Amino acid sequence: MAKDPIDPILLDKLAEVSVRTGLNLQEGQELVLTAPVAALPLVRRVTAAAYRAGAGLVTPILSDGMVTLARYRHARDDSFDRAPNWLYDGMGAAFADGAARMAIVGDDPMLLADEDPGKTARAGKANSIAYRPALERIANFDINWSICAYPGADWAMRVFPDLPEEQAVAKLAEAIFAASRVMGEDPVAEWAAHNARLRQRTEWLNAERFAALHYTGPGTDLTVGLADGHEWHGGASEARNGVTCNPNIPTEEVFTTPHAAKVEGYVRSTKPLSHQGSLIDGIEVRFEGGRITEARATRGEAVLQDLLDTDEGARRLGEVALVPHSSPISQSGVLFLNTLFDENAACHIALGQCYSKCFLDGANLTPEQIAAQGGNSSMIHVDWMIGGAETDIDGIREDGSRVPVFRGGEWAS
Ligand code: ZN
Ligand code: ZN
Repeated sequence: MAKDPIDPILLDKLAEVSVRTGLNLQEGQELVLTAPVAALPLVRRVTAAAYRAGAGLVTPILSDGMVTLARYRHARDDSFDRAPNWLYDGMGAAFADGAARMAIVGDDPMLLADEDPGKTARAGKANSIAYRPALERIANFDINWSICAYPGADWAMRVFPDLPEEQAVAKLAEAIFAASRVMGEDPVAEWAAHNARLRQRTEWLNAERFAALHYTGPGTDLTVGLADGHEWHGGASEARNGVTCNPNIPTEEVFTTPHAAKVEGYVRSTKPLSHQGSLIDGIEVRFEGGRITEARATRGEAVLQDLLDTDEGARRLGEVALVPHSSPISQSGVLFLNTLFDENAACHIALGQCYSKCFLDGANLTPEQIAAQGGNSSMIHVDWMIGGAETDIDGIREDGSRVPVFRGGEWAS
């Protein structure tokens, strides 16, 4: 019999980390779990780990790429304006009752790349509207939730198109396990140490209260003003139900909100951006007064221009994040075609919507207050990588004095 391309012991460790560190599932708590059928081996292990941790009830909800495609190929036209409201209302009710939420990703990231964009847009919109009651609980961080990943075969073949399926799955599995920090003896303890290091960084940055960050590197001389009352976050954080969880497995970033009107200079991307099935590479943009006034790309420039034209906020920044070049994801050199991994590969900025939680007392600020403090709003939030081995970053204080933050792609101290 052929060797399993996915190490079952490491898969067990990933399940354990996702339940204990990702969710920090509480004794008696219910869990709503969504996953593709391709991830069934991890779904089963997560379910077992959840019951061992004392779960009251685990309810998995599975999806399937071929089932999704069957709709695009055969459904009547009005199907694309429908969504399962009853299901999302039920999920919202479960969260209101205190259930935790886990999502496992693992499907083909380009599943819908060749489908009619009109239909994908309509179906996406109908789904977003129907999902809102459930999503609000997540967006407001009412409950502990977490996302992790399983190396599905269709996904693996997109990441390693030149390899036979079994080798592609084995390579993606290794990359996911390394990025998710489950290769060691005691991954739960390693995650505790990783979270403590991220916390140290956010506490330092929050104490410094820099007015701006100044980036220099190949093709880059960029000053990013930070929003008034911004707050840095990263690693584990406490949900409103009092449970400290890690919403993303993996995570490497510390991040905050830039000032939408105070970004000046030019910046060049350091890694390709995979956006809705298209690749955009070699991005070069110029900011004036916070707004992108010039934009080029060596590949996918038309997609980039469309993205920037989405709405007024799409040309301004909503997130700035720091990730050292030595992070395991960056070192793997793999383009995962999934934001959960790719945004943790390097220092990045995001076009579009900001996070209200990245403000002091953010939960109690109105959208108008957030805007007045420099928070951007947009329908999009698209992260792209601007950090590499040659990235230097200075923190600029209110009085103009400078503090080294990054040197040669790594934390300066
Ligand atoms: Zn980020
Ligand atoms: Zn982001």
